[in-house]
Amino acid sequence: MIKDIVKDDPILGQPCEPATAEDAAVVQDLLDTMADSEEAACLAANQIGVAKAVFVYRDKKQHTHAMFNPVLKRGLRPQRVKEGCLSHEEETKSRRYDQIVVEFDELKDGALVHRRREFAGWTAQMIQHMIDHCNGRLV
Ligand SMILES: [Zn+2]
Repeated sequence: MIKDIVKDDPILGQPCEPATAEDAAVVQDLLDTMADSEEAACLAANQIGVAKAVFVYRDKKQHTHAMFNPVLKRGLRPQRVKEGCLSHEEETKSRRYDQIVVEFDELKDGALVHRRREFAGWTAQMIQHMIDHCNGRLV
């Protein structure tokens, strides 16, 4: 279901609760809402008003992914970048790693499976932005 995107709301400033396999419906809402917005390439659950640590993103091949309970384990080559956010009007400067290692859970056949993966460049930047959302941090 397409949801309204939350802007400047206290929920965005609170760390999210761990997400579970029961939150599959939230993922569907995130995918529907992201598909409805032309500018969105990623969306966190608290941006649609659900304080759970899960987000979706679209990669360069236009494939969509959902990440549950993401944790940044390692970052290389920090740099200053300008970033926009659907929940925030102005572009902001932040510090992002160009290459990261993330641990997260992935939903597979109705259960969460633990994963560890490396990301670089634009995808890495987007994932760091989403992890910040899950931790209740806005750019
Ligand atoms: Zn954002």
